[in-house]
Parts: sequence; C-alpha cells; structure tokens
Amino acid sequence: MCSYHIANKATHVCPCGFYNHPEKDCVCAPGVVQKYLSKISGPLLDRIDLHVEVTPVDFTELASSQEAEKSNHIRTRVIQAREIQDLRFADREELHCNAQMSPKMVRKVCEISEAGTSLLKTAMEKLGLSARAYDRILKVARTIADLDGSENIELEHLAESINYRSLDREGWAG
Ligand SMILES: [Zn+2]
Repeated sequence: MCSYHIANKATHVCPCGFYNHPEKDCVCAPGVVQKYLSKISGPLLDRIDLHVEVTPVDFTELASSQEAEKSNHIRTRVIQAREIQDLRFADREELHCNAQMSPKMVRKVCEISEAGTSLLKTAMEKLGLSARAYDRILKVARTIADLDGSENIELEHLAESINYRSLDREGWAG
C-alpha cells in the first residue's frame, strides 16, 4: 500500500476534503492539491465571477439563533440592483447587466477613485492576480456597489470584489 493510501485510510478523508479545514490537517502529498486545481483552466476561470472558499460550518454556528440577512430583504436588493443596471444600459439593447459589459464598457462604467486604482494595483501585484482578473474585479465591484445602492464604486466594494478572485492568485493552495 502506498503512503498516500495509508494516509487516506487513517484519516478517512482527503484529496482534499480537508483543504482549508479549520481543525483537520490535509494529508495530501506535496503538489497534489495544486495539480488538481490546475485542471481548472484559465479560460474556464474566465467564466466564473465569484470564487468563494467554503469551510465546514460548526454545529454551534448552525444552531445559533443569530439571524443572517433575511432572504426577502436580499431579494429586494437584487431587484433594485437589476433596475439600476437596466437604467445604466437603457440605450444599449444588447446589454442588461454588468456581467455582459465589454472591456471598453468596463473602463467607461466602472470608474474608480485614485485610491481605488492604487488598491487594485497593489492587490494585482501582491496577490499575483492575472490580467483576466482585472475586468472581472471591476464588474463585480460595480455589482456590489449596485447592491449597496451606491453610485460610486467605493474602496469596500473593490476590496470585497478582489476577495472573489482567489483562484487567480499565484500560489493559491501553495
Ligand atoms: Zn488533502
């Protein structure tokens, strides 16, 4: 039996159910997780707007009586954001939402402040974000701002959007 199978048997789960698990250790051999992730090609990542890492939810959290935002409230915000986008693209028959914008439209519609530009530049460099992530971040930031009912893309919107490109980071899972 190879070491991988021994390890797998001893801990029951992995490649890689324990990745990012808050308590359990991943026992995958070096490079295994990266190899698996590299199967998701760049062009495929281009089509995914939001990368969200999900870790197991603790029972006490599940059972907690603390309420999250109610779904009908979220629904209202989504409808409002859609209305903002309908208005934004009122003179463009082919466009209905932010996600459909061309790179040229992104530059026009997703204006960011000087501070925003500098935040994005730093994030691109520090996190090793790919060029394809750039437009994605701006579009998603615009949508987050719309959901917030904000005319401008604020730093917090941009920061949240940058967080959704985890799979574009060089050395992710490294
Ligand atoms: Zn693992």
